[in-house]
Amino acid sequence: MAYKFVDNYRERGARKKLVEHLKSRGIADERVLTAIGKVPRHFFFDETFWNQAYKDIAFPIGDGQTISQPYTVAYQSELLHIVKGDKVLEIGTGSGYQTCILMELGAEVYTIERQESIYKHTIRVLPGMGYKANFFFGDGSMGIADHAPYSKIIVTAGAPFVPEILLKQLKIGGILVIPVGNEHSQTMVTVIRVNETEYERFELDTFRFVPLVGDQAW
Ligand code: SAM
Repeated sequence: MAYKFVDNYRERGARKKLVEHLKSRGIADERVLTAIGKVPRHFFFDETFWNQAYKDIAFPIGDGQTISQPYTVAYQSELLHIVKGDKVLEIGTGSGYQTCILMELGAEVYTIERQESIYKHTIRVLPGMGYKANFFFGDGSMGIADHAPYSKIIVTAGAPFVPEILLKQLKIGGILVIPVGNEHSQTMVTVIRVNETEYERFELDTFRFVPLVGDQAW
């Protein structure tokens, strides 16, 4: 993929418009909007498609991967209520765009991807942009027990159910955000760990994600 770090007035202007658009769609968290306004989404695209980078759409960017729709990234980020220093597990690294947003919010990010070509691509691109996350290759439906517990867990692929094993890797007071449903449609679910044994579950809007594939998934 052609890759150049050029961020001029045209891209910055387009990013500003995207932020205004996300506000009009109901994203209210100023910190999330600031992060969206900061991360150069066109860096994840081939230069030929830079004119698509600031549209509110998911987009195929090679290696069989898509970069998530900005609204979806903002929506999940808002639900996580990230505070500086939060240890966040992201399941489904993909392009790494969501990873960058989490890092702009002050999170220490552990991110896992199961497709090797995508993993290899993203571990090269993100550090080149200055985002030094902790990258892992493997089945994230099992979480990453070695680094648990996490303040927050975000799943960026559609799951058939909430994996119990992920709940166990949350800190007390921690939040899991995960789309749950069938292959066509998923409900955004947040789960808050209240104490050792109790969890509170909330069901929100409907989305369509690529499937979470793995031991505790499809
Ligand atoms: N968050 C990404 C972004 O900002 O561009 C988009 C993620 S994409 C919608 C979902 C990703 O989850 C895909 O790259 C897919 O390979 C990955 N995935 C699916 N099942 C997984 C699993 N069990 N463990 C880790 N990654 C998984």
